[in-house]
Amino acid sequence: MSSITQALQFVNQEIQQALAKAHRPADAVDLLAVSKTKPLSDIASAYQAGQRSFGENYVQEGVDKIIESQQQSWLKEPIEWHFIGPLQSNKTRLVAEHFDWMQTLERAKIADRLAAQRPSNMAPLQVCIQVNISQEPAKSGVLLEDVFALAAHIAKQPALTLRGLMAIPQKLEQGQELATQFAAMQQKFSELQQQYSSVDTLSMGMSGDMQMAINNGSTMVRVGSAIFGQRN
Ligand SMILES: *Cc1c(COP(=O)(O)O)cnc(C)c1O
Repeated sequence: MSSITQALQFVNQEIQQALAKAHRPADAVDLLAVSKTKPLSDIASAYQAGQRSFGENYVQEGVDKIIESQQQSWLKEPIEWHFIGPLQSNKTRLVAEHFDWMQTLERAKIADRLAAQRPSNMAPLQVCIQVNISQEPAKSGVLLEDVFALAAHIAKQPALTLRGLMAIPQKLEQGQELATQFAAMQQKFSELQQQYSSVDTLSMGMSGDMQMAINNGSTMVRVGSAIFGQRN
């Protein structure tokens, strides 16, 4: 068994244990495998072990892998590709034309560009609003109080489907403070769900804070190095 296959099994077991502890159903959380900087051969290993959704942070690197993957004989059913990095407005076309999901939407102008550039023969781009949960001015994402304004803007675009919220917590924060931020995300997610029937995704939790995120209603965890090994 390859080390990626083993690591993937281990992470999936951790998710199952966290769900059991949180008294949530076994299928309540999806695993997004974050493959940034890793070669397509690693993605192939994870795919062969059953993984179907992958996250990329750098637009051109992601697009190269998407196109290359589509020419591989091991690809039996499509991969779901998620863009999870910062996006400059001059790169929106590449995301609109190649990715299935855009998780780091934080500006109305970017939403407009993605909607205008989404090819009409593709399904709507599935989007999450990135929230700046630690409320630090230097961090990406919208403040919690601005989520509904951006949501209303996205909901007007037929080429975009609003799926929910995404957050990247600060690395150093631990314990109660992070739990408070996760709880605030869960609350906003629940309010958004009441208004928009398309909303079903709370993308929150990485290797170190998975249990806490799952306790607080996360429906998608994003894990990279615990599956593919450390990045250079
Ligand atoms: C890199 C990255 C991850 C995965 O991080 P690991 O520490 O490798 O598990 C998750 N989410 C986002 C947005 C990332 O950029």
